[in-house]
Amino acid sequence: MSETKATLALIAHDGKKTDMLAFAIEYKEILARYNLIATRTTGTLLKDKTGLEVEVLLSGPVGGDAQIAAQVAEGKVEAVFFFVDPLGKHPHDPDIQSLLRICNVHNVALATNTATAAFIISKKSLRG
Ligand code: PGA
Repeated sequence: MSETKATLALIAHDGKKTDMLAFAIEYKEILARYNLIATRTTGTLLKDKTGLEVEVLLSGPVGGDAQIAAQVAEGKVEAVFFFVDPLGKHPHDPDIQSLLRICNVHNVALATNTATAAFIISKKSLRG
């Protein structure tokens, strides 16, 4: 019986999409072992530039963060890589805060910058 793959969520604000792409290229082999879900613009960029399979949800500002938060709350996501731009203004800030909060409520690994992301993705305890 084949084991179901764990799911990772990938989201990057516009100012951090270059960092997300570099992260995905560097760790492509590891990321490929997971089901990947992402907000629309982030996911489309990653699919086009890396060839990784990514399930694309709504764009962050129109509900994508909320969709990912729902999956985290349902226990469907093992880790969230959410590269936030702390210098940017975001109309969907309530959704951003909600996603961060839901990760903390459910004790789900959450990387909001590339340094933390590198630690988490290299960790052997992820089920990939
Ligand atoms: P995007 O959404 O990947 O559709 O740009 C990310 C966000 O801004 O939350």
